[in-house]
Amino acid sequence: MSILQLNDVNTFYGGIHALKGISLKVEKGEIVTLIGCNGAGKSTTLKTISGQVIPKTGTVLYEDKNISKQPAHITAQTGIAHVPEGRRIFPKLTVKENLEMGAFAIKDKKDIKESMDRVFEYFPRLHERLTQKGGTMSGGEQQMLAMGRALMSKPRLLLLDEPSMGLAPVIVEQIFDIISDLNKEGMTILLVEQNAYQALQVAHRGYVIQTGEIVMTGLGADLIKNDQVREAYLA
Ligand code: ATP
Repeated sequence: MSILQLNDVNTFYGGIHALKGISLKVEKGEIVTLIGCNGAGKSTTLKTISGQVIPKTGTVLYEDKNISKQPAHITAQTGIAHVPEGRRIFPKLTVKENLEMGAFAIKDKKDIKESMDRVFEYFPRLHERLTQKGGTMSGGEQQMLAMGRALMSKPRLLLLDEPSMGLAPVIVEQIFDIISDLNKEGMTILLVEQNAYQALQVAHRGYVIQTGEIVMTGLGADLIKNDQVREAYLA
């Protein structure tokens, strides 16, 4: 069963036709990556899934339920966590408070503690910095915090928007290793990246998006060898 399926999705910002008939699917247990240039529609695809923007036509199916018109705060409580581009952590809140915000829908204190302990297994750095204000963390640490906050809600599908953006190569490696570890433990991930090489290396399958349309799809290992992909995105 596909955990997520988009069928012929069209999303507009006023008169701007940002997604022009996007169809894609993510199977349970996969890492799927969406690669493309600036402005191609990658972030809009994730926003359309998480309910931050509502598509004009087409369907978004999540666990076989049509969530196309579902607002973001509901979707966030039904197992989809969206880590936005630019992280958007709460800069004035501590690491611990940021993580607690991610668990806003979980009432049981014991469950929150369990979630947090699990986050610390992936991100020991966050455990070391519990009382530090989010805004004073490095870019890589803020990315870890944003991902940790998303994991606090115990999602079944994780949407990651450009997690490697603006990070030093050694930190990018760490982030991709964690993405891979999360997936090995069973997390399904839809990963948007401009860093196509690393994204295709870690992903089972990929889609190439160009000006709002999917122009190519295949196994990550095949796309990475494809001449057109190499020329346009890996040069
Ligand atoms: P980037 O990596 O630069 O974010 P992207 O592939 O994620 O690129 P989107 O941000 O999804 O691209 O943008 C797709 C198109 O929609 C672009 O033409 C962009 O200018 C437009 N767009 C995005 N957000 C808005 C908005 N809030 N209002 C109007 N147009 C928008």
